[in-house]
Amino acid sequence: MRLLEMALHKSFVCTGMLLTMACSLSSSVMAQSGHVNPWEKKYIGKLPPIASLTEGMWLKGDLHLHSRHSTESSNNPISKIVAFSKSVGMDYIGITDHDNHVNGDVAHHTWIDPEFKTDSLLLLYGAEWTTTRGHGNTFSAKPYDHQQLYDVRDQRDVVTAGVKKKLGIHLSANHPSGKDHFGYSYDMIESIEVWNSAVWPKNANAIMIWDDMLSSGHKLTGRGGSDAHHGVPDSPEKATKNSVQATANYVGTPTTWVFAKTRTSQGVIDALTNGRVCVSANPYAPRVEFYADLDEDGKMDMMMGDNAKSTGKPVKFRVQLSGNALPDASYTINVIKNGGPFATFQATGKLPVVEFTDTPVTGKRSYYRVVVEGPQTAYPQVPGSMALSENMVALSNPICFNFDPDF
Ligand SMILES: [Zn+2]
Ligand SMILES: [Zn+2]
Repeated sequence: MRLLEMALHKSFVCTGMLLTMACSLSSSVMAQSGHVNPWEKKYIGKLPPIASLTEGMWLKGDLHLHSRHSTESSNNPISKIVAFSKSVGMDYIGITDHDNHVNGDVAHHTWIDPEFKTDSLLLLYGAEWTTTRGHGNTFSAKPYDHQQLYDVRDQRDVVTAGVKKKLGIHLSANHPSGKDHFGYSYDMIESIEVWNSAVWPKNANAIMIWDDMLSSGHKLTGRGGSDAHHGVPDSPEKATKNSVQATANYVGTPTTWVFAKTRTSQGVIDALTNGRVCVSANPYAPRVEFYADLDEDGKMDMMMGDNAKSTGKPVKFRVQLSGNALPDASYTINVIKNGGPFATFQATGKLPVVEFTDTPVTGKRSYYRVVVEGPQTAYPQVPGSMALSENMVALSNPICFNFDPDF
């Protein structure tokens, strides 16, 4: 249109030129209207079957923690992180020390630390891939050669992605909207840290990036991570200038819940990859579960992270707060559809539930996700976190329709 306006303006100067331009413009506009993007799939083949909604368990943990093997941490040996995690009921943790502090050799620092072992708590193998281009966390159920990933940190993405794939690890973008944002291709990651630390308001742009990825067909899992570096000092003289953080941002601020098939590290990572994940402000805050009934039989057929074909029939969605919902509280349930606000509901009671119906369009992608706001459930072990999280209680991953599994 701008070109056409320019052409019309120019007509006062040269009528002959206008005719030529208008002619060529109209043919290009015609070509445009009939254009079919060969990359846009008209038909998505059979989707993988939806996994069971009952065979599995909810496990909670923190996916971004720094121990004494990150040089800027303080009073935070692995033993302290593990003991604290157990005391607040965590099922798993990912200790992700900065790999650049040990020249990539996390295997001989964090992982070989005699304190890196537990009986009940699941420990993920990983590190914070700390590079000039940005930060990302790796997760693996077993040790892998992290040095190889460190060594290709300054190579082109095509090289880096190849090494990452060969190592068979889960890679996740960290604090993508802040300093040290993930400056690599998002094609090489499985998840994104949409909720970094107790300081909720600084995550707004991370949420925007996530919605952009989802809207373009990249079914990327949103996860949390406290990024805690500092433990409570054992005695006053061991305090550092950062010790104040220990009671404001520590293990579980926020807490990432995964619906895992098995109580194993691999179960946690698979759930994380598949997106059966939600994030809560702390380990005691309510967990948001998000389901959909595809055939109006009153039985839920899929949950967040799942992908189904739209049939043109109405779908009944259910949002449910589990765990420690405050009995007298009113929670605001915000439903986001395709990156924009769709509906808002109020929910109260011991087990707040909200249901709504919508008909996802056929033949095109759509997604729905949920954000829960309301009063904070107390986290006495990290008392300063509640004010920092403001009224942000929990968020779900999306329920997806017609996403291409071969993206
Ligand atoms: Zn970082
Ligand atoms: Zn970090």
